[in-house]
This record gives sequence, C-alpha cells and structure tokens, in this order.
Amino acid sequence: MNDDERSMAGRPGTGRVGQVKEVTSLSNPIIKDIKALSNKKDREESGTFMAEGLKLVIDALELGWTIRTLVYAKAAKGKPLVEQVAAKTVARGGLVLEVSEKVLSSVTRRDNPQMVVGIFEQQWQRLEDLHPEQGQTFVALDRVRDPGNLGTIIRTADAAGASGVILVGESTDPFSLETVRATMGSIFAMPLYRAVPNDFLAWSRKSGGQIVATHLAGSVDYRTIDYRKKPTILLMGNEQSGLPEQLAGAADRLARIPQEGRADSLNLAVATAVMLFEARRHLLALEAK
Ligand code: SAM
Repeated sequence: MNDDERSMAGRPGTGRVGQVKEVTSLSNPIIKDIKALSNKKDREESGTFMAEGLKLVIDALELGWTIRTLVYAKAAKGKPLVEQVAAKTVARGGLVLEVSEKVLSSVTRRDNPQMVVGIFEQQWQRLEDLHPEQGQTFVALDRVRDPGNLGTIIRTADAAGASGVILVGESTDPFSLETVRATMGSIFAMPLYRAVPNDFLAWSRKSGGQIVATHLAGSVDYRTIDYRKKPTILLMGNEQSGLPEQLAGAADRLARIPQEGRADSLNLAVATAVMLFEARRHLLALEAK
C-alpha cells in the first residue's frame, strides 16, 4: 500500500468523498456496461472482465492487476478490508460504486451475490516472448470448449506449479464469469497465452521444450515419460474430437493414461490434472536428489 492508499484506508469513508458513487438503479448506464460484460463481444471490446469476492479482488490488486471499477454492497460499507480495497482502487484511478443488493444481484446474476465485485483489465502474455526453462511445465489446450473445464484446468495448473496455460485455436473465453468463478482466483496467478495452431507449432519447434501430447491412441504410458530432461508442454485435446493429426503428429511423445472400466476417456480437466501432477512428481523427485 502506498502513502495515499494508507491514509485513505485509515479513515473509513473519508478521502474518497466524491469518488464513491452510490447506485440503486438498475438502469444506471455504468451498471448496464458492467452487466454487458456477460457477453464475450463486450469483454473483448472493453478488454475487461468481472471477478467476484473480496479475497479475489485483494489478491488481484496485490498481484498488480489493473482495476477499473470496484462494486460493493451497501451492507459492506465500513468493513476495514472493503475500505482498503476501495482506497486502493481510487488511488489507482479506478471508480468505486456502492450499490444496493438488488443491483449487485443483477450484475452477478446471483440471488446471494458476493459483497464485492471487481472489474479488471484482461491480461494476455505474448507467446513469442515465452522461452520455457528447465523444470517448467506448461499446459496447451486444443480448442477447449467448456468454461468449467478451462477454469478447473487454470486452477489445477496453478496448484501443480505450472508456469502458464496456452489456448490453441478457437477456445472458450478464460475471462467469462463462469470460467473466472471456476478458477477460484487462479486466473490472476496463471499467465495466459493464445495462438492459432500454426503459430503454436512454429513456437514449440523453437521453444527448446518437449511436447507431450495426450491421446487415447497414445503409444506411451504417461508414467514412463521423462518430464525432467526438457521443459514440458502438455498438449491436451478438444473435449469432443480429441487432438487433430496436425497437432498430434508434431508431438515428441504421445502419452496415454491407462484406464479401467467402461468410459472410453477421462474428462479433459481430470486428464490434465493427472498429467500435471505426474510431471510435478518427476520434477520434485529431481529436486529431492
Ligand atoms: N472423444 C475424444 C477423443 O477421441 O479423443 C475424447 C476426448 S477427451 C474427453 C479430451 C482429452 O483428454 C483428450 O483429447 C486427451 O487429450 C485427454 N484424455 C482423456 N482421457 C485420456 C486418456 N486415457 N489418455 C490420454 N489422454 C486422455
């Protein structure tokens, strides 16, 4: 916290006079703009997205994400942590809205909304600037469709110590409300990259890493792969159709997770978790030596 933020946080309600707007009307134009963020087109045009919950907003500010607007419920007024994030938002040039519960419910489309919502600028990293290092693991997802799967994968990649998630081809939006919810805050911790398949392949050839693609017809048991000799890019296929030949054919290893039972495949997020924690197990074993 800088001096401005500290002085404002220390005097609840003061220092922000005139900078906190009270909103009770659903037809307020700023509220309409925030509600429009449920559409991908509006998120792309504004380059912003919405995240719910005080802890998430605090974490995002600590990690240096740019907040455009902070929205909090009237009932949260005066709570020290809410006052602190409001002060930080103002000090960083953002807008603070104090709203009725009805407005907050309509913004989040929930009956029992979180008390605090933040509108943040989206952050994408440039794949051409990514130079994987020894011991790092990345997840590359081919045309991931399901927001819940993508959110769970971002959360799991964070928990498994991965260094980034690369979206290959036309994918669901990581900044949709559903995906952000499913990441449980990891959206702010996990670097995100995107590329069309040809650019991804061109990058991976120069990256110095090994592509370990997962495939139901994979010839290699995923446990026998050496995840330590090079940085690893775990390449996962689309939920319906799996990996196309263009991507599978470019892999250094085609891995299979042996299964029992009647299901012909694992859920994409589950398969990604299995791969990530196997890679982590290998890397931790190396550290322990
Ligand atoms: N019908 C699809 C197919 O034929 O590939 C199933 C796709 S599966 C739901 C989604 C992705 O999870 C797959 O493309 C693969 O990357 C990964 N996957 C799921 N189960 C797997 C397994 N047993 N072995 C290797 N990869 C698996």
